[in-house]
Amino acid sequence: MATDTLTSPATLNYGKTKVFKNFIDGEWVEASTGETFENRNPADTRDLVGIFQKSAKADVDSAVAAAKRAFTKWRLVPAPRRAEVVFRAAEILIERKDDYAREMTREMGKVLAETRGDVQEAIDAAYYNAGEGRRLFGPTVPSEMPNKFAMAVRQPIGVCGMITPWNFPMAISSWKLLPAIVCGNTCVIKPAQDTPLSTFNLVRALTDAGLPKGVINVVSGFGADVGTPIAEHADVRAVSLTGSSAVGRIIGGIAAKSFKHCSLELGGKNPMIVLDDANLDLAIEGGLWGAFGTTGQRCTATSRMIVQKGVYREFVERLVERAKKLKVGNGLDETVQMGPAVNEKQLQTDLSYVDIGKNEGAKLVCGGNRLDQGDYQYGWFMEPTVFTDVDPKMRIAQEEIFGPVVAIIPCDDLEDAIEIANGIEYGLSSALYTKDVNKAFSAIRDLYAGITYINAPTIGAEVHLPFGGTKATGNGHREGGIGAIDFYTEWKSVYVDYSDKLQKAQIDRED
Ligand code: NAD
Repeated sequence: MATDTLTSPATLNYGKTKVFKNFIDGEWVEASTGETFENRNPADTRDLVGIFQKSAKADVDSAVAAAKRAFTKWRLVPAPRRAEVVFRAAEILIERKDDYAREMTREMGKVLAETRGDVQEAIDAAYYNAGEGRRLFGPTVPSEMPNKFAMAVRQPIGVCGMITPWNFPMAISSWKLLPAIVCGNTCVIKPAQDTPLSTFNLVRALTDAGLPKGVINVVSGFGADVGTPIAEHADVRAVSLTGSSAVGRIIGGIAAKSFKHCSLELGGKNPMIVLDDANLDLAIEGGLWGAFGTTGQRCTATSRMIVQKGVYREFVERLVERAKKLKVGNGLDETVQMGPAVNEKQLQTDLSYVDIGKNEGAKLVCGGNRLDQGDYQYGWFMEPTVFTDVDPKMRIAQEEIFGPVVAIIPCDDLEDAIEIANGIEYGLSSALYTKDVNKAFSAIRDLYAGITYINAPTIGAEVHLPFGGTKATGNGHREGGIGAIDFYTEWKSVYVDYSDKLQKAQIDRED
């Protein structure tokens, strides 16, 4: 049984280094390459979290074949029954929340409070999508002909391919897998190479909840080796990527060639506007959380602060004072507020933007250095970093850094702030701090982004609302809420003529 294989000693051999195999057709199988890769703790690289399969196209082919076989049965399971599996998985995740959070902190570094939040997001997504199993509503509409019934029903698409990033390793997998299976699809997922374990943990909960074999298949490995073959496979009819805009261009291009459904959730460079009338205490609290939560490694991270001139100086002084006091360290320590970068490459990117900012003439007023003394020497740590006097056209104000580096830009008024906020290639999240309701509603209308927060930072999405962005942040789809149900189903319009004669639409009219 699938449940047995998922809890087999090969995968739960705590105490020794665990070797994780691919999960295909309910079985744990080695990659066709015979190769593996290590998953190490970015806060302490001496800690080997696990060894994972370095898979290739042949493994994707097996996984897609298994998903295709499973689809023939799974699509016929009534949606409320499919949803019950997801509901049970939510309850299993609640029981395992702490263990899975600890494993997630070890594999990607963010602090325990945040990894608990990540598992909680999967739980929330499970309850939401379980509810959808009893809805999956479609319109029933009047026909233009007498004695004719018209409706539209949602149908599953088939095999869906998912490619995920490392920053929300369980939450983002859940946003994709859960609506997909409730809608009757089957899946092949490639987790990010930095964080495969959290996806395996989610799938383990689903399998223990009774998910039949082959409905979800997990193939670990690297982007070009596994992600590309998933996107290219003729039997994969929908592909969903969350990742960088650069990879989004590749996947979008591949999917377009065979007319696959394609959902792309990509980068961000999210602005937080602070007006003169804002509650500064709240704005500073929110800014710190938005910029340095998850070490700035959220697609929705507050990476630009656009501050009106009347409060600019005070805001900068107080924010910097607080940023300097943030405790950086291993996320397994409950007192730590900011963990490491996810890997050495990301840390180098973050540090390179410190140099870019300095060379562009921005003022470095906080941080900017790697932390590598004492226990820090084993991980990929850097200081929370703040640049001020940033010109909106500078690279540090335009490009996604994905680290704890924030650019503070002065502005004259709301109009100026909105022009700066919108003057980038991305459009994911945005925030405004003000007490003026007129200004708040103008900003809600004029900020060209998928998400706007009023008096809250740019992070903090809830699973039942649409999630995604404009411009280079995506291709118009939304995850979360009903948007995901729309993505993972296809409409079929149904006409039932009970007039007993041929009725010709648009032609048989009285006039
Ligand atoms: P990434 O683009 O490097 O990788 C994302 C996934 O794509 C990984 O699984 C990776 O292995 C795979 N991949 C890489 N190259 C590929 C290729 N050539 N073909 C197929 N697959 C390939 O991104 P990342 O570093 O994992 O995550 C950070 C990025 O994700 C940031 O840009 C961030 O803004 C974005 N992100 C967006 C959202 C959102 O919902 N908009 C959420 C989280 C993260």
